[in-house]
Amino acid sequence: MNTENKEVVVRYAPSPTGLMHIGTLRTILYNYLFAKQNNGTILLRIEDTDQSRKVDGAVESLENLITWAGIPYDKGPIFQSKRVKEGIYNKYIDKLLNNGDAYYCFCSSKRLDEMRKQQILEKKPPMYDRKCFYLQKSEVQKRIDDGEKYVIRFLIPKNKNIEIKDIVRGKIVINTNTIDDQILLKSDGFPTYHLASVVDDHEMKVTHAIRGEEWVTSTPKHILLYNAFKWKVPKFAHLPLLLNADGKKKLSKRQGDVAVEDFIAKGYLKDAIINFVVLLGWNPGCGSTKEIFNLEELIEKFNLSKVHKSGAAVDIKRLDWMNAQYIKNMNIDELIKFALPYFKENFPNVTDNKFIKKVLTVEQDRLERFTQVGLENPFFFESVSVNKELLKWKGADDSETKSQLEKAMQILTSITDSHWTRKNLTEILMTAAGDKKGDFLWPIRAALTGEKYSPSPMDCAWVIGKEKSLDRIKKAIQIF
Ligand code: GLU
Repeated sequence: MNTENKEVVVRYAPSPTGLMHIGTLRTILYNYLFAKQNNGTILLRIEDTDQSRKVDGAVESLENLITWAGIPYDKGPIFQSKRVKEGIYNKYIDKLLNNGDAYYCFCSSKRLDEMRKQQILEKKPPMYDRKCFYLQKSEVQKRIDDGEKYVIRFLIPKNKNIEIKDIVRGKIVINTNTIDDQILLKSDGFPTYHLASVVDDHEMKVTHAIRGEEWVTSTPKHILLYNAFKWKVPKFAHLPLLLNADGKKKLSKRQGDVAVEDFIAKGYLKDAIINFVVLLGWNPGCGSTKEIFNLEELIEKFNLSKVHKSGAAVDIKRLDWMNAQYIKNMNIDELIKFALPYFKENFPNVTDNKFIKKVLTVEQDRLERFTQVGLENPFFFESVSVNKELLKWKGADDSETKSQLEKAMQILTSITDSHWTRKNLTEILMTAAGDKKGDFLWPIRAALTGEKYSPSPMDCAWVIGKEKSLDRIKKAIQIF
């Protein structure tokens, strides 16, 4: 993969603006996988130059999530806001100003708004009209000395084709006539993302900028900056957009959860979330139908250049399915450890650990999320009500149904408490059913659960226990 034999350096470059979007987790994961494959170095760079969007506690939760996911970085965190204070970006701004690649702009937001409105009226693309670029040097100096507020803009050369060689998307060409003279330094003295990210990627020797597709339109601006400084341009990989489940629109909060924290709170397992997120926009291909991968396998199989160009639909049903696979593969102690907090939340009054273990053992094969634990089988916890129709197997009449229940009653009564195990119950009831499984097992299951769908009658009898099972069957017999 790393054909140049040069050390790979990538960065996690999140902005601390709140919860972690699953798109951010995917970007971080792809950076991680790529770095691991190439023995590379990972930096954590906190892109916090937009002071208005900063959210308290966001950096801590970002770091916690990176630790939770088990995808550590090698250096950092490096805070851009700290580098601002160290004057790092100003040095480069001065360079651009001295070389004539940037200029002071004093235009008020009111003037800019009016200018844009007028351009829209004239059906022109809204772009800065370079009013301040044409100011005399002496006037510029006077206005600065008078304490007028200003920004620094990048002078974008006209009518040049900028070519991006994107690892994922191939060759992309963008003409500079579509690019506005970007603000590089804001009036609060902070650099914009464009300047900070280029300066940092250069100073930190980043070799690959792997990031979301939304940054493609920024990339020509960045390339122009690299050129202006005469710096080597890193390689770019722009990852496909995440779309809603129907694959039509950009993933939006309105249609459900988008934050990693939401998924964790919903009871999805870390390994399932990671597996799911990595497969948004990449799969191992070659006709493979395998969908469950641990991190080690992902490091081995992932291929950045095989990431898809088109948007990836985020289908939560697939995550449910994956989560169920991970739950199925847990041993019972692990399962109890993970599920217990959710169980206690759903059933605060249930304290019998042996009983809880039985519920979990029976639910393990069908459980998709821990938040659902116990909820789909209310008959484990509360009394049930049944009616004749429910108790009857296809076409059976009253007396047939009653006699099947009586037969069950007799068999179950004879099993001692110590023999009331899942294995014994299965063997005994299956043997008694012979080749007429439905005729015998359906009425028992219905009597025990009061439901059309549930785990098997042997599993239900095992969980509920002998006394309650006999009691429920007795009540069902009395209906006839
Ligand atoms: N701070 C940007 C983000 O949160 C990163 C952009 C980049 O990787 O260059 O998406």
